[in-house]
Amino acid sequence: MANEITSLTATELNDKLQNREISATEVAKAYLNAIESKNDSLGAYLTTHPDITLQTAEEAQKLIDAGDAPLFAGVPIAVKDNISTKGIKTTCASKLLENYEPVFDATVIKRIKKNGMVMLGKTNLDEFAMGASNETSAFFPAKNPWDLTRSPGGSSGGSAAAVAGNLAPLAFGSDTGGSIRQPASFCGITGFKPSYGRCSRYGLIAYGSSLDQIGPFAKCVEDAAKVAHIVTGHDHKEDTSQPLPPIDYTKIKDGSLKGLKFAIPSELYETNAIEDGVKTCFKNMLDNLQKAGATIDVVHIPTIELGVSTYYVIATAEASSNLARFDGIRFGSTVQSDGHVNQVAATRGKLFGREVKERIMMGTYVLSADSFEAYYIKAQKIRAVMVGEMDGVLDKYNAIISPASPVTAFKIGEKNNDPVAMKIIDLCTIPANMGGYPAISLPCGFSNGLPLGMQIMTKRLDDEKALEIAYSIEREFNLKFSPEERK
Ligand code: GLN
Repeated sequence: MANEITSLTATELNDKLQNREISATEVAKAYLNAIESKNDSLGAYLTTHPDITLQTAEEAQKLIDAGDAPLFAGVPIAVKDNISTKGIKTTCASKLLENYEPVFDATVIKRIKKNGMVMLGKTNLDEFAMGASNETSAFFPAKNPWDLTRSPGGSSGGSAAAVAGNLAPLAFGSDTGGSIRQPASFCGITGFKPSYGRCSRYGLIAYGSSLDQIGPFAKCVEDAAKVAHIVTGHDHKEDTSQPLPPIDYTKIKDGSLKGLKFAIPSELYETNAIEDGVKTCFKNMLDNLQKAGATIDVVHIPTIELGVSTYYVIATAEASSNLARFDGIRFGSTVQSDGHVNQVAATRGKLFGREVKERIMMGTYVLSADSFEAYYIKAQKIRAVMVGEMDGVLDKYNAIISPASPVTAFKIGEKNNDPVAMKIIDLCTIPANMGGYPAISLPCGFSNGLPLGMQIMTKRLDDEKALEIAYSIEREFNLKFSPEERK
């Protein structure tokens, strides 16, 4: 039964819980056992707190027993370790925050608690969410459940590995340039980045504030839509939160693909940056979509080619400012000065990893008086042009589609010495962050035995449409895989 529990979707678990076929405690125990036996090899979780998990499960069961329990009461979820959890360590996978315990919960955490969902623990990530492989974690890299020698993607690699490896039915990630969708693609699961402003960032430790968004990983689109429903909706504590109701999962119907119009930017398909196996797999998906009655046009969005370089100017500029607070005084552990540098420099120099320091330096440089016009302002102009081009395409099409990643899961260590190759991986995902569009990565096939996601991006704030298209595609082609079934 325990194995069976951990392979269920969140909706299936919810139904069994509400029908009293299983109890919230049984579910929590099944997951805690799975974590105990598999986390050493997967490296998905940085922190677990079995006592709290079991206690919340008991409280959830009381809600269920009282009748009328909210959606997903008793359903477990894993949380990326850059989302603040009151009294539970939130490290950002950094030595600097190794012992940091927030004194408040992020809004998404408050909302899942209100629904009686059960937190399993905090998941691994690239340090401060900077990376695409989970290898910049200061502690250990998470591994891909499809092949333990490969990366689960990043930065939310621990969350993706937890869901694909049956160590959680759901997980939160954060996505600044692709950190939900790329790991979802690498791990063969669904990853959803809501529109900017749909999901409160209150309590998310900021990386690039104009790009960051929290979103779910799930085993299917329905689960992602339901958890999005629970956590989205206006939050007065967050200035960029849209005054809109939560994403309405009941509006998401299994629609026909007939008549849907999709655009594929040639810059994300007909380019050498996309691996051949990925192209073949995606082409197969396009043929299937056409057979199902969708129209597909290849379009040009020329500025997408500048997306990665533009992103690395804007994201690092914002990061250099956001990370200023981690100085060992306001936040973080402290390293005593050795007399050569002051205490703040000693702390930041010693406790930030190399990737984080490089980005802070780059961000500080592009914001400096001499470079501001040439880099930062120029990047903002390109961003505006890019968004204009994408808005134009989305006015004519139901969605922009592409592979979610130009590559499938690579070997751990393979790209460590090639920072450009590591950054190009975000080619397909960055455009959605630039424009604040909702975007989903949905498993669409395999290349060399490794899963690949297709990305569906719709108009800003039309999250329901993105989810509905993904749901219809998932249903039409039966797109749910699990590493265990394929072994
Ligand atoms: N790989 C990208 C980066 O390192 C995106 C990370 C993210 O979305 N958090 O910036």
